[in-house]
Amino acid sequence: MIFMKNSIKLLLLSAAVTLISCGEGRKVKTTDKDTQSPEANVFVPEFNRDSAYAYIEKQVAFGPRVPNTQAHKACSDWLSATLQRFTSHVTVQQARLKASDGTMLDAKNIIASFNPENSSRILLCAHWDSRPWADHDPDPANRRKPVPGANDGGSGVGVLLEIARQMSIHNPSLGVDIVLFDAEDYGEHQDLQGSADHSWALGSQYWARNPHTPGYSARFGILLDMVGAENPAFTMEGTSMYHAPGIMRKVWNVAHSLGYQNYFLNRKTGPITDDHLYVNEILRIPTIDIIDYDPDRDKGFFDQWHTVNDDMSNISKETLKAVGHTVLTVVYTTK
Ligand SMILES: [Zn+2]
Repeated sequence: MIFMKNSIKLLLLSAAVTLISCGEGRKVKTTDKDTQSPEANVFVPEFNRDSAYAYIEKQVAFGPRVPNTQAHKACSDWLSATLQRFTSHVTVQQARLKASDGTMLDAKNIIASFNPENSSRILLCAHWDSRPWADHDPDPANRRKPVPGANDGGSGVGVLLEIARQMSIHNPSLGVDIVLFDAEDYGEHQDLQGSADHSWALGSQYWARNPHTPGYSARFGILLDMVGAENPAFTMEGTSMYHAPGIMRKVWNVAHSLGYQNYFLNRKTGPITDDHLYVNEILRIPTIDIIDYDPDRDKGFFDQWHTVNDDMSNISKETLKAVGHTVLTVVYTTK
């Protein structure tokens, strides 16, 4: 990923949501000015953190999901079969994509749609591939080895699979598309020092130009990237704030109303190149990135980012719950 200059400013938000407990799920009473839905009293299913964790474990067990490898192929088969258990509307979009080193990647974007007939839609997305090179590993001997991708790749997908499972049990009132992007993390090796443009997020660039449904649109989108580490800092990332500030405030308000203000921080950070950039710029769907990013850290991301140690030992069920609970609540309370 590529960073630009940082502008940090505190933004104070006030949440306007109250909660009432109800059975296994929750009833949420919400006043949401961003969506112009003054009163909603709706059921929100309970996000199961153990289930999300198990979905990450399963992905990691295939081995690094690097395009053109057997692990990548096996994982894509498992992802589409798993999503087919939750909805009959699963599309596997295949594409041959050229990486910045010239490699032709056999890529697959995997799309699961709920209520496809509904024109009022929400887009949820994450990348499912993992990085071919651990080029930020402290040990130079590891920097050509692949990344296990538990947090970077696996976590966002794990949360979305659990959300899909919940939606298969409790059908949401809106249309929802879960898009798992391929080839996000094949951006050029750190040694080349950023000589190639647009070398990241190849799958989302392709999908944004060739959506699975012609003329596809959604009211807004939420991208999940690196949402599994302990003590994350989900800051208000600049690309999201540029293209979709209202959606960011809406999602942050929901997170704070649920008690996750220590995860979702009212702190603006610089723009990041991630899948949401292309969804915003090409498809013009206002899309935010929930990403663990603190520019005051050494690498900005979690300690094991782009190392051979991005494994299950760094995945926190509490963090998965905070993200999954928040996103599910957004899906079920949006009118
Ligand atoms: Zn990455």
